Amino acid sequence: MADFEVEKGKRLSFSGLGLHDWLVRQCEAVGIKQPTPIQHNCIPPILKGSDCIGCAKTGSGKTAAFALPILQKLSEDPYGVFGLVVTPTRELGIQIAEQFRVLGKPIGLRVTVVIGGIDMVEQGRELSKKPHIVIATPGRLADHIKSTSTFDLHAIKFLVLDEADRLLEGNFGPDLEVIFDFLPAKRQTLLFSATITDTMKELQKMSMDKPFSWHSKAPVATVEQLDQRYVLMPAQVKDAYLMYIISEFTEKNRDHSLIIFTSTCKYCHVLSIMLRNLGMQCATLHSLVKQKTRIASLAMFKSNHVRILVATDLASRGLDIPMVQMIINHNVPTSPKDYIHRVGRTARAGRGGMSITMVTQFDVKLVQAIEKTINTKMTEYKVPEKNVLPILNEVALAKSKAEMKLEELDFGERRAIHKRKQLILEGKDPDEADEEIKRAGPSQKKKKSHQQESNQSSSESHGKHKSKGKQSKGKRSR
Ligand code: AMP
Repeated sequence: MADFEVEKGKRLSFSGLGLHDWLVRQCEAVGIKQPTPIQHNCIPPILKGSDCIGCAKTGSGKTAAFALPILQKLSEDPYGVFGLVVTPTRELGIQIAEQFRVLGKPIGLRVTVVIGGIDMVEQGRELSKKPHIVIATPGRLADHIKSTSTFDLHAIKFLVLDEADRLLEGNFGPDLEVIFDFLPAKRQTLLFSATITDTMKELQKMSMDKPFSWHSKAPVATVEQLDQRYVLMPAQVKDAYLMYIISEFTEKNRDHSLIIFTSTCKYCHVLSIMLRNLGMQCATLHSLVKQKTRIASLAMFKSNHVRILVATDLASRGLDIPMVQMIINHNVPTSPKDYIHRVGRTARAGRGGMSITMVTQFDVKLVQAIEKTINTKMTEYKVPEKNVLPILNEVALAKSKAEMKLEELDFGERRAIHKRKQLILEGKDPDEADEEIKRAGPSQKKKKSHQQESNQSSSESHGKHKSKGKQSKGKRSR
């Protein structure tokens, strides 16, 4: 298994790596002039036909490292479906598709995104038109494979698992099995990730053909341009510190944006309402929000209409938004790997950026574990206590109003959120359940809704614990 770094001063150009002129020109047109190390190392072996495992810091140009050689091979022998990219989150799927579309424009590339929360019938129609590249999340693609016979992936030349560690270690196992069974044995398999794990090594032994493997030898998992800070404060005044940091940032950086990562969907929601109560516009991204709203929120944030995004770890993988200058970890991630992915949303492609991790008296051990993994000590971000004191009451009030607002959500809305949560816990797709209802039409909807209500009232009368299964069944059918 080859494994090498580019020697200093010997970095080749894109044409030196064997890419055709049209691709080199297209890269230049979008500002990609010099290959990054992962591109330098992985593009030639992929062009030669090897399976490949690429592991490098987030934001290091991984997408182009697999997209460029796939596009080149496709242009030599064009047919659809030529390549399948599987990725863990829907937002990442949309983003990868954008990069493919931009780079593949000169050859009239057709890309289809197959993700949950979007009309399945329309997606099925697009799949049957044989796009060149399919980008998919595992659950929705497995659903299509199980339910339709109007498309096939038996002739694909490339399978890419992006954020492979998360795909192989998450709850995607059964869906991936369905997908792998549907693919040809003879194909090139490419695994890309910021972190290589034991599961990936297992997969490599089982299903890859003497893969070329490239790991960045850089000693840290985060980039040098990232200024990694922590701010220490007592837990009970955390949100006032947060508000102070945000205000300072938005005043000093008129053109840039920031992401706040939170630990839970509920907290993400409360914090968004709190910020709005304090006059800050922000977008919200977590899994209990409907897919259409998720896409709209992200679009607002990407276009810089809203400069603050409050998100759970749903947004921590792969998202590439050049304007993001700061990441705030409202909670210290319990896994250093999650920290690496979160802070990787800034300081991308050679740009600078800052991360601030909010640390309370209870988090010291977690911070030490992160510092050990990233081989870097975070430095303190100084927030003078005297600047926070005047806003303590205002922030506390805005927060308690936000909590009350969450409580006051009308019954229907709260029930809908609860239903989504239940489905997610059961490993099901809540947007798909919504679509099922839409497809069923109004009379069916009414019938199902009655059925649901009677299920719910009967289950409620059976006590909280016992009723769980029944409730979820009823809710899914709505
Ligand atoms: P990725 O790691 O694939 O998410 O890419 C991060 C960002 O780097 C994207 O905005 C890419 O367009 C950009 N990028 C990829 N390759 C290069 C390159 N060789 N030079 C400059 N920017 C690049």
